[in-house]
Order: sequence, then structure tokens, then C-alpha cells
Amino acid sequence: MRAEIIAVGTELLLGQIANTNAQFLSQKLAEIGIGVYYHTVVGDNADRLYVQIQEALNRSDLLIFSGGLGPTKDDLTKETVARAVGKPLVHDEQALARIIAYFKQRGMTMTENNRKQALVVEGSHVLPNDHGMAPGMVIEHKGKHLMMLPGPPRELHPMFNTYGIPYLLSLMGGKNVVHSKVLRFFGIGESALEEELIDLIDSQTNPTIAPLAAEGEVTIRLTAKAKSVVEAETMIRSVEEQIEARVGQFIYGYDDDSLASVLVRELSVRGETVAFAESVTGGLASHLLTSIPGSSAALKGSIICYTNEVKEKQLGVPRDVLQTTGAVSGDAARIMAEQVRLRIGSTYGIAITGEAGPHASEKSIGLVYIGASDGKHTNVRELRLSGQRAAIQLRAAKHAIFTMLE
Ligand code: ATP
Ligand code: MG
Repeated sequence: MRAEIIAVGTELLLGQIANTNAQFLSQKLAEIGIGVYYHTVVGDNADRLYVQIQEALNRSDLLIFSGGLGPTKDDLTKETVARAVGKPLVHDEQALARIIAYFKQRGMTMTENNRKQALVVEGSHVLPNDHGMAPGMVIEHKGKHLMMLPGPPRELHPMFNTYGIPYLLSLMGGKNVVHSKVLRFFGIGESALEEELIDLIDSQTNPTIAPLAAEGEVTIRLTAKAKSVVEAETMIRSVEEQIEARVGQFIYGYDDDSLASVLVRELSVRGETVAFAESVTGGLASHLLTSIPGSSAALKGSIICYTNEVKEKQLGVPRDVLQTTGAVSGDAARIMAEQVRLRIGSTYGIAITGEAGPHASEKSIGLVYIGASDGKHTNVRELRLSGQRAAIQLRAAKHAIFTMLE
């Protein structure tokens, strides 16, 4: 089913408000596996809206309108949709009763305008408005569906969640269960991941495969529509297996997991601990861990060794290493990792040293070394990270944690 969202309102075109309704609806539709192909904004103008409806009917199966259901004369979504589908507007008795009761309760006089709010396109399925007066509706026209929702987000959100989604699910052939699973990746970029999976992404419609990149990580949401949760899970599992076979080494967790929560969980289970020697990240890796409840079982302590003085005095990095190869070097990272492990007394020692900018020193911005020691072996990895200072620091901290999960 191809969907598009048509937001109506001159204030949107003027930039007075942002089109958050389209964002909300797109997210919700993605969750139930309906693809959104267009977002359009039209001002409060019947002719331009009419043209837009014609165009949308030619290319989409589901048109979702936001706004313009109110009582004033600039609210013309219903009238224009009615004209486009060749149906009159009629009063919806339930909606009218609700509006009359509302005014009576408050001792206010009702105007003709308010009666207009109870008008619906003849033959439409009415979506009750539990947070306002204008009801929403869906009208079917030549196999297409046109859903009209009120503009105010506090009316649109609950109406769509409570009445809109079940209606759409019922259209999708009795497959009333929508189930999704998020796969979490680290160490691979969004475009590289998409390239590995492009044939699957393009051919899969149920479950759908939706990648998303944020904060140096990539997630893939698998969403299946099925008759039962068990059936949906089975469908998801089979696609997940195909993804695992190609890029499984980059998957670190699922759903609400984070790098830190997975590390805390794994170390706690094994009865092991970690300590960080943090230079460029200034304690960020440790903070990511301590944000997880129960992290004291996994993180023993850390040393923030921001200056060379602290690297030398607290971690025993020899002065000649700091002066010749420099604090941002594989040698420094190796010694820091080994020493923080010994000095804190943890199972593992992880060191992070690098250059976050913005002012370049002798080392290039984004150059980061991660050292990891278990007492027997010490591995050092060189990274070239991109982004601003904060992004480099966050990525460096996440890489340090990921080192423990590989
Ligand atoms: P009302 O009965 O309140 O007039 P309506 O359905 O006619 O509702 P509009 O008049 O188009 O809706 O918009 C009412 C208010 O809803 C706007 O002033 C704005 O605050 C909010 N709104 C409208 N469209 C959007 C949108 N696309 N995204 C976010 N907010 C919106
Ligand atoms: Mg209005």
C-alpha cells in the first residue's frame, strides 16, 4: 500500500509551525509496514488542494490529510475531498450530538459554524475525536482510501493511534498483528550496511527492512504483519538470519539495548570487570556505563588522564613515549590500557587517547587509539573518526565499549 500525507494549512507554508503531524504519521505508518512516498503541504486554498488530491489519487492508495477540519471558513479539507470524490457532506449524528452536549454543558451558545464541524463526507467511516470536536473520517473512493485527521497534534495523535491504525490494519487483510524487532549495529556505516543488504531491502515487503543511522550507530527495524505474534516472529527470524549471515559481526544488540547496557550485562554475567583510562573522552565511556543501572558489577573505576602529567604520574606512561611518539599514539594507548587494568585491579583495561579538535595539534583531528588489555594480550586499534569535537568523543567512547563486545 502506497501512502502519502497531505498537510493542509497556510501557517505551515509560512513557516509559523513545523509539520510535525507528517513526521508523527510517517513514523506510525512505518511501524505498521505502510510505505509513505510523499509529504505535501498545501495552503488553505480549495483549488490548489483539489489539484493536489487529483495528483495524489493518481499515484497513491492511501491519502492521509492533516488539518482543515475545523469550523472556520479557511478549513476546507472536507469540502474539497467531498468534491474530489463526488459525494455530498452530511451531518454525522453522533458527532453532532457530542458537539451539542459540549456547548450545553458549558452553557455556551452554539453557532452554525460549530454544526459544520459535525459534517462528514457521505458514506465515510467516522473516526471519533476524543480530544476535540471535529471528527476524523475515512472515505473509500475507487479502491483508494482518503483519511482526514484534525490539525492539532493533541487531537490527531490519539485519533490516529486509537481509531486510525486499527482501521488501516483491518484494510491489510486481517493481518492484525504488527510486530517489529530492531537490530543494532556498530562499526559499519549506514551506506555500507545498505549496500550489503540492498537486494533484501528492495525485495522485502513483509517484514519490511528499515535502516536508520543515529549517533554513530545504525539500526535496522524489521516489521512483520501477520495473523499472530508467533507468526510475525517467525517471519522476522528468517529475514534476520539472512542479515546475520552477511553482516552479523556488526550486530551488538537488539531493541532497547545500547552498547553500554550490553557490556554491563555481559561482564556481570561473566563476573568480570573493566576499567577505562580516558584521555580524549574525558570520562564519557565510563559515564555511558554508569548510566546503566547495576553497572557497578561491571565498571570497577576509571582514570581520566587528560593531561600528559596524569598519564605519566597516574598511569606510568614514560615521559619519552609522551615526548617522542606523543600521547596520541599506539604506544601510549597500550601502556595506558595495561596500567589502568593493573592499578584499578579489573579484568580488562581499556584506553582511549586521541585528537578531538577543533584546533589541530601535531596529530590530525579524529585520530584515536583504543588500547585493550586482558593481562595476557594488549590490542591497539587506530581509528580515523569524523565529525565535530562532541561527535568524535562520543564515537571514540562507543568504539572503546564495542572493543569489548567483538
Ligand atoms: P481546528 O478545529 O483546531 O481549527 P483543524 O483540523 O481545522 O482544527 P487547522 O486549523 O489546520 O486544524 O490547524 C489547527 C492547529 O493545529 C494549527 O494552528 C497548529 O497549531 C496545529 N497544526 C495544524 N497542522 C499541523 C501540522 N501539520 N503539524 C503540526 N501541527 C499542526
Ligand atoms: Mg482550523
